[in-house]
Amino acid sequence: MKNPSQLLFRRSRRRLACWYAIAMGGLLGLSGLGMYRALVRANWVAIEREIESIAGTLHDSFEPMLPAAEDPTRLLQQIFPDLCVVEQPCNNNPTFVQRHTTGISDRNTYYIRLFNQHGDLLAFSPNQPFPLPTDFNPSPWQTFSTEESGRYHQFTTILHRTDNAADSAANNATDAALSARLVTTNDRAGVDHQSWGYLQIGRTLAPYDAEIERIQWILIFGLPLVLVLVAVSAWALSGLAMRPIYHSYQKQQQFTANAAHELRSPLASLLATVEATLRLSSTQQQEVVPMLKTVERQGRRLSHLVADLLLLSRLEQDAASKPDKSCCLNDVVADLSEEFLELANVSDIDLTSQVPDAEIYVAGDESQLYRLVSNVIANAIQYTPAKGSVKVSLQTRDRVAIVAVQDSGIGIPLSEQTQIFERFYRVNSDRSRKTGGTGLGLAISQAIARYHDGKITVNSNLGQGSLFTIYLPYLC
Ligand code: ADP
Repeated sequence: MKNPSQLLFRRSRRRLACWYAIAMGGLLGLSGLGMYRALVRANWVAIEREIESIAGTLHDSFEPMLPAAEDPTRLLQQIFPDLCVVEQPCNNNPTFVQRHTTGISDRNTYYIRLFNQHGDLLAFSPNQPFPLPTDFNPSPWQTFSTEESGRYHQFTTILHRTDNAADSAANNATDAALSARLVTTNDRAGVDHQSWGYLQIGRTLAPYDAEIERIQWILIFGLPLVLVLVAVSAWALSGLAMRPIYHSYQKQQQFTANAAHELRSPLASLLATVEATLRLSSTQQQEVVPMLKTVERQGRRLSHLVADLLLLSRLEQDAASKPDKSCCLNDVVADLSEEFLELANVSDIDLTSQVPDAEIYVAGDESQLYRLVSNVIANAIQYTPAKGSVKVSLQTRDRVAIVAVQDSGIGIPLSEQTQIFERFYRVNSDRSRKTGGTGLGLAISQAIARYHDGKITVNSNLGQGSLFTIYLPYLC
């Protein structure tokens, strides 16, 4: 069964994945829609441009040949042999030369129609779709659909009489867009006395519609597939995002449990001593003093523990603000070596120190730096059996001050060398509890080193000794 915190993390992961999938899905959906609209627009513009360019070419080649007469049937058959003239039999097999005269690039796709200035149909290409709207509509662009052959798009441009056409050619003003504008203007004006009639060119929209349908199918099948992939990756990514939070939550929980455990032992002993003291009869008053001493010892232990915990949390909270006072490391190492000399003598350990003459300064909090180095020296003495040695040295290398504490003690197994810097971690509870250690010493040392932009490392062989090295950036 899963515990409440696991359920909470699972729920948060699900929620994160959901929001991520919704956001990504929405964005992808919108961009898909945008792409679709852009593609539709681009295809449509390409079609209109093609029609316009063919209409322009035809317009420019037709206009100089247009007959001035009102009844153009005979002349039309001469210049547009490919077209069927209204109320005349259709010539469906023009010669190559005749075909060339009409000059439409794709005869299956395009059709043309010619109207007189009153909007009456004069001629049309045999491939024009049926049924086409019979009423002449002079607006430049029209789209319509026929029942049999789908949708069509057509462009209408005005044609001028031969004399006027010559002028137009001279003025080089015969482009299709201008014609289109003329059509609407003329239409609004009612009658244009110079116009000959209208040329209509249209094309089937079948390839365009098929292309749009193809894009729609891609979107209909592709978008849900992409959404599924987004959901799967959202789940995986939210798992990755939650992992460090879960680890830190677990660490925090472990820390709380350890802290409670560490506080419980001295508290229990303290309470037991107080109870025993209270139960003492008046005849046993001489035992009160040693019992009160035990209470005091346990009280101090508790107070140290709480002070250490507070120091650790303060170091973490103040990580952004850095110490700006300068501190002489030579003094720190020399003072501590001297301070621990007595303890080393008592433990029958040879404590030596090597401090250079040149002073080495680092930016830091003096009391914290004392604490950092003293923790390491104290450990070295504590975990070194009698007749062993502890060497403390200070040197600089590449703008870094290095304090090394080498002992010939019991050593630390390789597998535990990274864990010893965790809060409350002890390699072997028995061996450090005997020495009164809480398992916070190295965690505090590491926090202080990091606070000073430095680091602390360990190199140890079980049974042979350990080397703790503190690196701190030094001030010139
Ligand atoms: P403690 O207060 O219990 O000594 P520390 O954080 O200072 O806690 O050290 C963590 C653990 O690392 C200790 O339990 C001890 O076993 C191991 N340790 C630290 N320094 C040394 C050393 N110089 N030699 C051997 N073991 C050490």
